[in-house]
Formats: sequence, structure tokens, C-alpha cells
Amino acid sequence: MRVSTSERQTGEDTTTTLYPVTKTCAVWGTASEYIEIGSTSAFGAPDLDSRPPEMARSTIFAWVQRCPACGYCAADISQAPGHAGVTVRSIRYRAQLVDSTMPELANSFLRQAIVDERAGDYASAAWAIVHAAWVCNDEEKPEAAQECRGKAAEMVMRAIESGQEITEQRGAETAILVDLLRRAGRFAKARQVIASRRPGIIDDVILKILAFQELLIARGDVARYTLDEAVGAEA
Ligand SMILES: [Zn+2]
Repeated sequence: MRVSTSERQTGEDTTTTLYPVTKTCAVWGTASEYIEIGSTSAFGAPDLDSRPPEMARSTIFAWVQRCPACGYCAADISQAPGHAGVTVRSIRYRAQLVDSTMPELANSFLRQAIVDERAGDYASAAWAIVHAAWVCNDEEKPEAAQECRGKAAEMVMRAIESGQEITEQRGAETAILVDLLRRAGRFAKARQVIASRRPGIIDDVILKILAFQELLIARGDVARYTLDEAVGAEA
């Protein structure tokens, strides 16, 4: 079975292809069916926290898999670090299972983050929490989104302190961190990060983004903006 969620347009591939796959949970050994992404596309500029535009934007539901038997959540349910069995049974993990303040999909990403954090992979944990924030925005839960962004910012800082790479592009981790802090309403911390990290940044686009963020912070703006809006504003 192949599911196309959009039609082809002139000369451009705007199709997302999804397909079901049976996978075995690496924690409990339960086989279940999951939806995976065969291909997708992205048109337009990403958000300042790197969230892709459509169609990729709407494939987020398939970025995390949750075992219906044990609740283990991972990008690939058939893979698990050695401690995952213990983590899945932990009080913190089980509490995240029933956190009614968060959308169900956000809880899956937050559970994925707990396993990543326990494995010492703070960069992956940070991204999983960022994904939870995006789900909260989609579900129109701004307070939950703000809470996730605050947690994601803390995890990004922990990753940076541990020498872990948040993105391949040098300086982009600062741009993403500042956007997380601003949209979490933590303006003072966002200003502080810009002041302390800007001297080490040479990428012109990143510098333009940080200048744009300063304008938003000055007016207390916590809204979503795209890369084009940021770079265009300074051009
Ligand atoms: Zn399982």
C-alpha cells in the first residue's frame, strides 16, 4: 500500500509517500505495524528553529514510533540502547506516558528524549523535545509548546557544554537556541546567549538571524518566523 498525501504539480515533486512496515520492539520483542516515510519534499523557507515547510512539515507523526505493548518510543522502534528496558519501566518514563497536559504525539517525543538523555545523547534528546514543541503548536497548545521550548533550550545548552553537535552548520546551534529561548519567553537568557556567542560567529546569515532575533526580543515577540523573514528583514 502506498499513500500519497498530495498531488504532483507542474515539474515539482510535491508528494509525500508513506508505507506501513511491521517492526519488532527492541525492548519487549512485540511486533507491530508502523508508518514510515518513503519520500517527502519541502517548499519554501524553514522556521527559525529549523522546522521544515510542507510537505515534510506534516510528516512529523511518522518521526517517532511507540510500541503499543510497552510504551517504548524511538525514531526506530527496532533499535534500543542497553538501558532502555530499565528506562521504560522507570517512574519518570511512565509519568510521561500519562501527562495529560501534552498531546499524545508530543508525549512520544518526550519519552524518546528521556531514553536519549539517559544514553548521554543530549543533542538527540534536544531535537526530540523540539519536535514535541512543534506538535504542541500543531495541536494549538501554546503553553505546552512554550514549556517544551524551555526544556529543549536547556537540553541544547547541555549538549553544547558536552561538546555535542546540534547541527552540522557552525553557528546554527546558537541561532536555534536563541529562537527556542525567545519563543519560550526567556528574553533575558536569549539576549545573554546572543551577547556571549556572537563574537565567535562569522556566518553572515547566522549574524542576520541574530540581529532579527534582537528586534523580536526587544518587542517581546514570541511568534513563529521563517528564515526568509529573518534574512529579508536585514537585507
Ligand atoms: Zn515494546
